[in-house]
Amino acid sequence: MSIQYPIDLHIHSTVSDGLETPAELYARARREGITALALCDHDTVAGVKVMQDVIRTDQQQNPDSPPLRYLPSIELSTGDGGHAHLLGYGVDVDDPRLLETLDTMQQDRVDRCKRILCLLRKQGIRLCCHVEEELLRPGTGRAHIARALMEAGVVNTMQQAFDRYLARGKSAYIARRYMPIAEGVRLLTAAGATVVLAHPSRLNPDPQGLRALTEELMQAGLAGLEAFHPSANRQQGPWIDGIARSLGLLVTGGSDYHGDLNCCTRMGRMPSGWQDPEGDLQKLLARMAAR
Ligand SMILES: [Zn+2]
Ligand SMILES: [Zn+2]
Repeated sequence: MSIQYPIDLHIHSTVSDGLETPAELYARARREGITALALCDHDTVAGVKVMQDVIRTDQQQNPDSPPLRYLPSIELSTGDGGHAHLLGYGVDVDDPRLLETLDTMQQDRVDRCKRILCLLRKQGIRLCCHVEEELLRPGTGRAHIARALMEAGVVNTMQQAFDRYLARGKSAYIARRYMPIAEGVRLLTAAGATVVLAHPSRLNPDPQGLRALTEELMQAGLAGLEAFHPSANRQQGPWIDGIARSLGLLVTGGSDYHGDLNCCTRMGRMPSGWQDPEGDLQKLLARMAAR
């Protein structure tokens, strides 16, 4: 069962593959009673300062409204196929080594989009020129192409776009190289971030396997597990929470809200069972402050 929490430590904006701008997300957070928020765009920190500006402006205009706690963050794709996602809370958005790595990753993304569009064309699927142009901007990924295919009527849902064309092994799939997970943990840690493994059950649904991976990544500086995420089922949330606590790690939760209308995620909505979100947030904030 999913429930609504006042804390959401994992959402996406138009700066990566979300559908809402940082300003729209902020307005939504206010409407939905969210008191702490982390914008974790994929492989970019470009939205962090945008969101900070939005919040500063709102607080100047509405000095009496309670401040929303905002955590500057990123979601970094690492590991085989880029499937291991790392959340870097409190990341230094000006860290030169991180920015250089992210630049290279963005260029890889653009190159990959180009090659996917080329493969689609060879199969007789041609998107409008202006749509293709949009898809070649930095920050685009397969989700954007899936959405464009759906909007062009080529498929009915984004999932169908992946199942028919974009998923590994399908007719328009192009592989990308990603850094190993431990290297990502080290990169983010060196950039001042407190690093949490995102949606761990997606990566390893076996408790023993996940525990072993977690212990290995702790050597590189991993600080926590995102136990509460829509991908975790009723049992998984509590056992990931258990693994994290038994290893002395932080526990976090996030909706992974992207603003997709045909998707059931909602800001603040996560599996039930997160006993003390505020207490866990305080521990995360304390760790970030100590860094
Ligand atoms: Zn993710
Ligand atoms: Zn995400």
